[in-house]
Amino acid sequence: MKITIGHLYPDLLNLYGDRGNIQCLMKRCQWRGIQAETIAYELNDTIDFSRLDIVLLGGGSDREQMLVCEKLKEIQKDFKEYVENDGVVIAICGGYQLLGSYYKTDQGTIQGLELVDLYTEQGEGRLIDNIVLKSDLFDMPIVGFENHGGRTCIKNNKPLGKVLYGSGNDGKTGYEGVMYKNVIGTYLHGPLLPKNPQLADLLIARALKKKYGKDVALAPLDDSQEMEANAYICHRFVK
Ligand code: GLN
Repeated sequence: MKITIGHLYPDLLNLYGDRGNIQCLMKRCQWRGIQAETIAYELNDTIDFSRLDIVLLGGGSDREQMLVCEKLKEIQKDFKEYVENDGVVIAICGGYQLLGSYYKTDQGTIQGLELVDLYTEQGEGRLIDNIVLKSDLFDMPIVGFENHGGRTCIKNNKPLGKVLYGSGNDGKTGYEGVMYKNVIGTYLHGPLLPKNPQLADLLIARALKKKYGKDVALAPLDDSQEMEANAYICHRFVK
């Protein structure tokens, strides 16, 4: 079995080491004897979505998002088809905002990919802190760090989780992230997947199911250190 990960524009959308998420996915496949490769795309590369099993769209500053936004128009149709066909996507922070219809900032409006019915508008001040979520997907909480000026409205879509500590999508609704088909968008950046192996495995399992047409049981790995770190963060912030 083999998984191919497409990393979109890592030279522009790579805030806070989102690349570590790719390494985590690769390693968790390889440790189980599943082959894994990553294709990193630069702005002028052609993307053949039919080759890809997981797409990662990382975080970026407003300026970088503005730069990729023109390119996104060119790939929108193929990317949309990939998503509607149950392709797996993990979109983080700036990448999460780009999944929607637009991101309005003081400097102008960035057109999004329109893959998920959501939009983002810049609010007053940035939402910066550790964050802890409870997601219906897992028993173990999802932990991370957020740093964003945009406030995201996910309309009738399902959130990734309920905020136990932190701000989340907009600092008001109490929810974080979005789930649509096999797309997950979240503000939790940096080492999201190494800190949350349950989420990494969900992406791998969904990608294998889509590719091979059946549920593939993932061999358990020793995640005791990750679980200890997760529990530490929960106890520190969730009273
Ligand atoms: N530029 C976006 C914001 O500030 C996203 C930042 C990020 O990816 N951390 O809201």
